[in-house]
Amino acid sequence: MIDLRSDTLTKPTEEMRAAMASAEVGDDVYGEDPTVARLEEHVAGLLGHEAALFTPTGSMANVLAVRSLVGPGQEVLCEASAHIARAELGAHGAYTGLTMRTWIHPRGQVDLGAIETIFAPDMGPFFVPTAAISVENTHNFAGGAVLPLEDLRDLREYATGVGIGVHMDGARLWNAHVATGTPLAEYGAVADVLSVCLSKGLGAPVGSLMVGSRDAVAEARIWRKRMGGGMRQVGILAAAGLHALDHHLERLADDHAHARLLAEACEVDPATVDTNIVVVRRPDAADFVAAARAEGVLISAVGPAAVRLVTHLDVTREHAEHAAAVLSRLS
Ligand SMILES: *Cc1c(COP(=O)(O)O)cnc(C)c1O
Repeated sequence: MIDLRSDTLTKPTEEMRAAMASAEVGDDVYGEDPTVARLEEHVAGLLGHEAALFTPTGSMANVLAVRSLVGPGQEVLCEASAHIARAELGAHGAYTGLTMRTWIHPRGQVDLGAIETIFAPDMGPFFVPTAAISVENTHNFAGGAVLPLEDLRDLREYATGVGIGVHMDGARLWNAHVATGTPLAEYGAVADVLSVCLSKGLGAPVGSLMVGSRDAVAEARIWRKRMGGGMRQVGILAAAGLHALDHHLERLADDHAHARLLAEACEVDPATVDTNIVVVRRPDAADFVAAARAEGVLISAVGPAAVRLVTHLDVTREHAEHAAAVLSRLS
């Protein structure tokens, strides 16, 4: 089976397992795990921020990050198909007590005009005040679309002007970085706080980080414990993340090339495929998924008329070519 359902499906390589097995560890709730500390410092440095916090999931990193900017009874603005709005089971409302309002963009992009229209300044005890804007780069449900740096800089300038924060859900920021050559720190500079995932295309089994100022991260450390996310000798997982950043970052370019190959096979314009996700629009999504499965290719329906293909570490060139041949035959 060639599994194109998600880039979370990767299995740790032998080398990654060896790095995990030999990791130096300590009790991280005591702040004594040297490998976790190394990972947190490394990722904060890559993004040009003061500090970072290792979390079990990207959802938790997002909840911690957004709550550092938005309090109970305040709102965050985001694109309507953002992961924080659609795929975190209401965690931000359930834990933080915030609300969301959204703008719609078919490619998940920043729409400054729409944002300016819905932004609500603090007008006293009558209306919900907007406390932050959240963007997702790359945008998962928009098919791995990259948010251009110029748009993010404009957004940053706008947010600063109206006195609110910017959160970036960077679960796949690595893909944006590799696809565009934009230094990670340039992306880091347009947000007060970010989340990044190690367990997507980078191929680690677990782990994300919340990244921001020393103060925001210190407070997030308390909230992580409060939410039940304090972890002990977790350096064995941080070691997987460090290994992934050293060995699996630049190769994301291969995933992007494989995604374009699959796009062509499915009659999707490869120019619309920025990174490792291909969304195929067709009215018979469920039948297409079943037919592909019967030929050994796993893909997923993400709506009645949309199918998603995701390339990753465990999809080789040969796999991609074989899957492309199968999907082309079925298209
Ligand atoms: C995967 C993902 C997350 C985090 O998901 P978890 O399953 O909680 O690790 C966050 N944002 C985006 C855009 C994602 O694709």
